[in-house]
Amino acid sequence: MIWNPAAETMHAAARATQQLERLRHSVAWAVERVPLHRERLGGRRLAGLGDLATLPFTRKSDLREQYPFGLCAVPQSELARIHASSGTKGKPTVVGYTAGDLDVWREVMARVLVAAGARPGDMLHVAFGYGLFTGGLGFHDGAERVGLTVVPVSSGNTARHHLLLQDFRPAGLCGTPSFVLHIAESLVEQGGDPRALGIRYGLFGAEPWTEGLRAAIERAFGCRAHDVYGLSEIIGPGVAGECHVRAGLHVCDDHFLPEIVDPATGAPLPPGHEGELVLTTLTKRAMPMIRYRTGDITALTTEPCACGRTSARIARLKGRADDMLIVKGVNVYPSEVEAALLAVEDLQPHYLLVVDRTTTLARLHIQVEPAPALLIRCGGYRADHPGLAAVGRQVAERLRAVTGLTIDVTLVAPHTIPRSEGKAVRVIERA
Ligand SMILES: [Zn+2]
Repeated sequence: MIWNPAAETMHAAARATQQLERLRHSVAWAVERVPLHRERLGGRRLAGLGDLATLPFTRKSDLREQYPFGLCAVPQSELARIHASSGTKGKPTVVGYTAGDLDVWREVMARVLVAAGARPGDMLHVAFGYGLFTGGLGFHDGAERVGLTVVPVSSGNTARHHLLLQDFRPAGLCGTPSFVLHIAESLVEQGGDPRALGIRYGLFGAEPWTEGLRAAIERAFGCRAHDVYGLSEIIGPGVAGECHVRAGLHVCDDHFLPEIVDPATGAPLPPGHEGELVLTTLTKRAMPMIRYRTGDITALTTEPCACGRTSARIARLKGRADDMLIVKGVNVYPSEVEAALLAVEDLQPHYLLVVDRTTTLARLHIQVEPAPALLIRCGGYRADHPGLAAVGRQVAERLRAVTGLTIDVTLVAPHTIPRSEGKAVRVIERA
C-alpha cells in the first residue's frame, strides 16, 4: 500500500517541475519575510534546480543566533505549535509550525508509516518521547492521519511499556532503537518473551543505528524493523523512511529537497557519493530552511525502487560529520557508542572514549560509571568486582554488534569521569 500514490509515484519530470516551482516560492517567501534570508538570498534567480547549489547554506549556528524566533516567516500568532531540540551549547534550537506545516507533517509521517507496513485500524505503540522533542507528537499525529489506534506511552518507565505491550498487543512499535532494544532485553530478564507480543513492524530512528542493531531488534521482537529519518529543523520525523524493500530511505522530496555535499568544502557531490546531507524545505511556511546543513553523513540515489515509489532515497545514516573517529580503518561515531551505553540501565550517562594510538593497531577503550543500583547489588565499588566486570563484558558485546570493533569497557568508580556544563568532552585521543 502507498499512502499518496499521486505524490509518491510521480514521474521524474513532473516531480522536477513541481520541485522547481515550489523551490522558487519557498525562496521568495523566505526572502520576503526573514531578514537573514533577505540579506543572504535577495536578488538570486533560480533558472533551474541546479542553481540551488549556488545559494549559501543555513547552519545550526544560524538557529542559535536567531533564537528564539528570528528565522520565523510568520508572526507568533500564526504559529500553531513550537518544538525545540535540546541544545548542546546552551539555548535549545526552536522551530515553529503553522497549521498548514502541521498538516504537511501529518502527511509525510502517514507516508512513512504506511511504507513501513502500517495499515488503517492497526494499533501503534509510541515509545518516542512526547513534549518539545518532535519524535512522540510527530509519530502520533501521522498515525492518527493514517487511522491507527495510537498508544502514546512516551519514553522511559520500561515496566509500563512491558505491561501495555503484553496487554494491548499492538501491531506496530516505534521508538529509538537503543530504547526498544532495552525494552526487549529487560523483558527477557524478567522471564517475558518479546517475540510473543505479536509486533509485526517497527519504525525506529532519532539516533544513528547499524544493521547489527537492526538484526538484534528483529531477533528480539520477531518483527520487521524500518529506519525513519528526520530532524526538527526541517520538520521532525517524516523527512524520509524505509519501504518494505529497505534499499534506502525514501525522501518526501516533494516537500524536502535533498542534496549531498562534501562536508569539508561544501561542494555538491553526485548520486552515490557519501557526504553531508543538505535539505531545503519546499512547502514549510513558518520557518523555511534553505540548504540546511544537517551534519548527517549519507549518500543519495535516484534509481527506481522496486516498491514503485519514485522519490530520491538516502542511504542509512553513518553518523554526524563533525564527530567521526577512525579506529583500525573503521569509522566510529561516538553517537553510536553513546546510544548503546545509554540503553543499559546499569550504567550512568557519564563516560569517556579513549582512542589509544600509541600502539600499531589503535584501540578504543571506554570508561563508564556504574549506576547506583548496580553498586548496591555489588556491595559498593571495587575495580575487580566480578559483577561489574560482567556488566562491562555485556556492554562490550553490545558495542561490538553496533560498531564491528572490539572495545574494552571498564566500569570506573563513581564521579571519576569529569562533568561538564556545556558539550561534554567525551573523546580523548592518545597518540
Ligand atoms: Zn521503496
